Amino acid sequence: MEISTTRSTTAVSDERLAEILANPGFGNHFTDHMLTVEWTPDAGWHAARIEPYGPLSMDPAAAVLHYAQEIFEGMKAYRHPDGSVWSFRPEENARRMVSSSHRLALPELPVEDFVACVDALVEVDQRWVPSAEGGEKALYIRPFMFASETFLGVRPAQHVTFMVILSPAGAYFKGGIKPVTLWLSEEYTRAGRGGMGAAKTGGNYASSLVAQQEAIGQGCDQVVFLDAQEGRYVEELGGMNLYFVHADGRIVTPETGTILEGITRDSVIELAGKAGYQVEERRFSIEEWKHGVTSGEITEIFACGTAAVITPVGELKWDGGSTPAPAGGDGLWERLRAQLVDIQFGRADDTHGWMHRIV
Ligand SMILES: *Cc1c(COP(=O)(O)O)cnc(C)c1O
Repeated sequence: MEISTTRSTTAVSDERLAEILANPGFGNHFTDHMLTVEWTPDAGWHAARIEPYGPLSMDPAAAVLHYAQEIFEGMKAYRHPDGSVWSFRPEENARRMVSSSHRLALPELPVEDFVACVDALVEVDQRWVPSAEGGEKALYIRPFMFASETFLGVRPAQHVTFMVILSPAGAYFKGGIKPVTLWLSEEYTRAGRGGMGAAKTGGNYASSLVAQQEAIGQGCDQVVFLDAQEGRYVEELGGMNLYFVHADGRIVTPETGTILEGITRDSVIELAGKAGYQVEERRFSIEEWKHGVTSGEITEIFACGTAAVITPVGELKWDGGSTPAPAGGDGLWERLRAQLVDIQFGRADDTHGWMHRIV
């Protein structure tokens, strides 16, 4: 794929950039450039370009604004102690975008083109990759694809746009990691059988917002969803996968066909397996959660995803009851988290071949 580059003439000053990188937060600041590729049935993917970052001009009848034909990915670029810049398992994000595109009737962007686009943009904006500084600052990468055809009829769009934007991100947890309190949503579900649960698409997030709002209203940090059919099996949080650590060394992570299988989830399964834990991917009921914590059989629960890496789970609340935070674990979540973060930031050997050098 040929990618043309037009450099910004209004890039932020080094001084302003240092200010932003000192306290980037999440999703607040965007880099100097963005990448765009267009697709039509006749021309395929074409017009790949890196341009100065800025607003899009869109027809109000653009299909995505009406029918939500959209998918996205989330990944990070990490600066290593020697100054080099790396991404983590980018082909996995590319493959997941391919499978999301099949579900949303969007065109397939080849894995190597996805990776080349991300690499090219990060290279142009490499000064925006923060140094870890002992913390976990990184450059968040947001590739996304949407129906850009001007047409109000309902069918897969004949004009599609793929873009990549970048945003510096600070450590997810400021002032230490605290267990997240979860609200069990008994009214809302995030995905049903045959639905879009396994695709990374904005629609899943749109449908989770009201449940998340309910969780906040109940004094909880995040919502946990159950399966849509029986309202019995644990799925995931709005954007993180769950793990249940048992006293006998077993770890269970839900597998329902309707969850979004995270790349962090897969990496944790591999690391935990190597550390001698037996990882079971299966359906896991809400009764198993409640009884397991009460009996002491479950000693740790944690959630994982690119943004927060791994976060411990505390109390679970629902309408009329609660289950306390699990107790008796020896901090497996913390060891796995340190292992993963050390690989990502180049502080530990990458024996899995997970890291991909960009600059
Ligand atoms: C992206 C996402 C995750 C986490 O995936 P990672 O690849 O680990 O970042 C989990 N659940 C949902 C719904 C997601 O969209």
